[in-house]
Amino acid sequence: MQRRELFSSLFSSKEKREPQQQFIRPPYFKDESSFHNMCQECDGKCSTVCEENIIRIHKDKTPYLDLSSNGCTFCDACAKECPFEVLTLEEKKDINAIFEIDMLKCLSWNTTMCFSCKNPCLSHAIEFLGMFRPSIKFDLCTGCGFCVGVCPTQAIHYTKL
Ligand code: SF4
Ligand code: SF4
Ligand code: SF4
Repeated sequence: MQRRELFSSLFSSKEKREPQQQFIRPPYFKDESSFHNMCQECDGKCSTVCEENIIRIHKDKTPYLDLSSNGCTFCDACAKECPFEVLTLEEKKDINAIFEIDMLKCLSWNTTMCFSCKNPCLSHAIEFLGMFRPSIKFDLCTGCGFCVGVCPTQAIHYTKL
């Protein structure tokens, strides 16, 4: 194959590739591949039983968590309902996301007193320096997401681990 043909074929295969999805999953799964194999046969049962209404079903038929306005109580309902053992109680874990406070948006980092995120955090993972400058302690954070929606300036962000 000529160099030009090689580069052109590499470029076109890259273009065709689907972008990598960065889904935050319900906290009971063993491996990512099981969603793509088994959820195709299901009609999104886990999303219908979530008491906090945070499980969405993507167009690829797999579930992901939307923590923008509510959080996960780790109630086990989704795992108990899953008919294909994609979610199981044996695999219960913290949510696979990392949470961070944007210092530029956070009121408390900008000399306005605010404790909105502190109270909903039952894990005491949000630590203030005196009365200001909160940060999230990674080792204490379960990824529940309850701090996100209560922030008046949308300063708390989460990304997949
Ligand atoms: S554990 Fe409960 S609150 Fe959390 S995602 Fe599953 S059903 Fe929803
Ligand atoms: S209930 Fe289980 S199989 Fe059905 S969509 Fe949810 S994770 Fe997939
Ligand atoms: S800091 Fe972590 S444990 Fe605390 S509310 Fe936010 S996501 Fe939940």
